[in-house]
Amino acid sequence: MTVYKWNSLVPVHLYSKIKSLLVQTSIKYKSNVEIAIARQHNCTITSKVTTLNRAVAIHCLFILRIRRLGLEVALNKSEAICFHRARRGPPAGSHIVVGGVRIAVNSTMKYLGLVLDSRWNFGPHLRQLVPKLRGAAAALSRLLPNLGNPNTSCRWLYMGIVRSMALYGSPVWADGLTAPNVALLRSSQRAMAIRVIRGYRTISFEAASLLAGSPPWDLEAKALASLYRWRGELAARGERFPPRVLEARRTELRCDTITEWKTRLAQPSAGHAIIAAVNPVMEAWIGRGHGVLTFRLTQVLSGHGCFGKYLCRIGREQTSVCHHCDGGLEDTARHTLEECSAWAEPRRELIAVLGGTDLSLSTVIQAMVNSESAWDGVASFCEQVMLAKEAAERERESRSFPSRRRRANRQRREAAADLRPP
Ligand SMILES: [Zn+2]
Repeated sequence: MTVYKWNSLVPVHLYSKIKSLLVQTSIKYKSNVEIAIARQHNCTITSKVTTLNRAVAIHCLFILRIRRLGLEVALNKSEAICFHRARRGPPAGSHIVVGGVRIAVNSTMKYLGLVLDSRWNFGPHLRQLVPKLRGAAAALSRLLPNLGNPNTSCRWLYMGIVRSMALYGSPVWADGLTAPNVALLRSSQRAMAIRVIRGYRTISFEAASLLAGSPPWDLEAKALASLYRWRGELAARGERFPPRVLEARRTELRCDTITEWKTRLAQPSAGHAIIAAVNPVMEAWIGRGHGVLTFRLTQVLSGHGCFGKYLCRIGREQTSVCHHCDGGLEDTARHTLEECSAWAEPRRELIAVLGGTDLSLSTVIQAMVNSESAWDGVASFCEQVMLAKEAAERERESRSFPSRRRRANRQRREAAADLRPP
């Protein structure tokens, strides 16, 4: 039988538990009587103590104890896994024999809803989980159109469902997350965050999660793991803690998560304008008690919407020049909010609400966070202006591409039909 060493990547607390169990078991197996009993039950025991021998010994002892209770173990359902370093895995066909049943040593094993793998990096777990998350996110997304109901709390409820699925067992796997695994988590979180903020699906993960106020799930997983270890250490020392101490620890970990999130967003890969505006007031943005993101407000904040630059980028317009004024300037969210002469009247109303002429995105975000009336004023401006821009864009499209307009109308009707109750 080949000897394999325990992988040093296995977390210390789990390693010590397994090691402790093995030591206790091997001591008990020094009893010749028990070894003889094990052999009578066709369990493979050798005098040389190796990792796989120990695994066999533990399994035999377990079987014997179960049998003493008058029960029988379903050996044909048993699984075995060997933790190892890179390129030191067991050769193909490795197995152990317990109770006369051959059990293959696999590279993965499903246990309590987690897919354990021999490298302890949980890539297989996340690769199996992500299609389920995507399926749940897609199913829930169909219930969350950008226009109309459900409201924000319902959207958050649906996002919480997918989040709970994603973070299940996170105290076990959070410390083993690799960059590819983080990317897998992000794809599901991005889909749900976009549904929460009623945004276009081209919005980046960083911008969508920030606008939704949802910290990256890999950071949340690490916070949950830290809380789990903290509770375990207190329990090991026999210390009890009142609920307020637990809540204080949770708050502390939440602050650490926000701090790390802000650090990450200091150098975003996309959505620079909105991230630069919201990041300095992130705590206030997340903790605000007012204001919901509407479809048209999100368009102005994210820059992904009915703007010449964006429509040109996705191939819906031939030019990015603004069609609503004579300035010949590029039609962007900033141009719409601050410059375009076509929206002078709603802009005057907005300035009256905000109490200042500076309509830069940072100033607007700051005002929205500080005041509900400012939030409503910005939302009202966006609703009024974007409705007009959308109507003009539809008109231009129907003149230029009548067939595309008809197809878009048909797709819109089909999407509406999908949402009808059965
Ligand atoms: Zn303009």
